[in-house]
Amino acid sequence: MLTTTEHRDKDRVRLVRVEEVRDESPTVRTLIFRDDLAYDAVAGQFLMVWIPRVDEIPMSVMLDPYGRAGYAAVTVRRHGYSSTALYSMHEGSMIGVRGPYGRGFRVVDGSVILVGGGTGLVPLLRLCKALSGRARRITFIMGSRSRDEVIFEDLAIRLVGSNGKVIVCTDDGSYGFKGYASDLLKALLDASSREERFDMIYTCGPEAMMLKVLKMAEDHAIDAQASLERIMKCGIGLCSSCCMGRYLLCKDGPVMDAKDALACKEFGAYARDKSGRLISI
Ligand SMILES: Cc1cc2nc3c(=O)[nH]c(=O)nc-3n(C[C@H](O)[C@H](O)[C@H](O)COP(=O)(O)OP(=O)(O)OC[C@H]3O[C@@H](n4cnc5c(N)ncnc54)[C@H](O)[C@@H]3O)c2cc1C
Repeated sequence: MLTTTEHRDKDRVRLVRVEEVRDESPTVRTLIFRDDLAYDAVAGQFLMVWIPRVDEIPMSVMLDPYGRAGYAAVTVRRHGYSSTALYSMHEGSMIGVRGPYGRGFRVVDGSVILVGGGTGLVPLLRLCKALSGRARRITFIMGSRSRDEVIFEDLAIRLVGSNGKVIVCTDDGSYGFKGYASDLLKALLDASSREERFDMIYTCGPEAMMLKVLKMAEDHAIDAQASLERIMKCGIGLCSSCCMGRYLLCKDGPVMDAKDALACKEFGAYARDKSGRLISI
């Protein structure tokens, strides 16, 4: 629980120096910095990251890959204007951070499955750390388009430890299981009724994938949580840019329980563009 002072500090933009930049793949980079509030973030929470003279965008809080106290990171995929500007930052660049904001994942005991794709793996790695030592067994399914884009496999193996396993899938079959992460989940769940019962499924990645994952969890009567994305601007529940049905994802999410996400007609179907117009996804 944050104190009043920490709450106030959380909403101020804190200037942090990028201490290291790591290339994770040809399009993904991790920027590591020191920030006590981000270090203490709950898995699934996000920061509003200010890129001076460019924009302020939401980014999941990434673990410091070296596990140092007081350090955190963001992992960014080069995409449009703002993410490319963040991706282009280098060692010594200054960025601003606010937060951490939003509702994170609920950590449970028992046997859990994590299903992630692309930069959706970022909050799941932090979750993996929180689960290790608590969950009885962790199965981590990591999806990416191709071998070049496989990220964080070694870190995931380290975090999962001896009571779990990491399975990598690629859409084109160039590495690991050939197919989508959701295909592999289906195979696991179909076999699980005979072998093992799962207590929770956590997911983050492309919305089409998360929709499939949550529906499968529902069919198998397994609890599930997903970390969702919408355009976010204020990050603190004022501007309503991130509305999904009756929820504001920056406050009520980004992590939602499966039943709440599935009850929203917009989930997996529509999102709002920067002007607030509803568009198909
Ligand atoms: C809670 C949360 C956590 C996120 N974590 C990560 C992460 O760890 N790594 C990462 O690479 N990306 C992350 N994103 C997505 C990232 O914030 C957007 O991709 C980024 O803002 C897009 O900037 P752009 O200029 O490249 O996009 P543009 O070219 O302007 O738009 C491309 C797409 O990005 C999305 N987008 C644009 N602006 C925003 C915005 N302000 N908020 C949310 N989505 C936006 C829209 O869906 C848009 O269609 C996260 C988003 C949310 C909501």
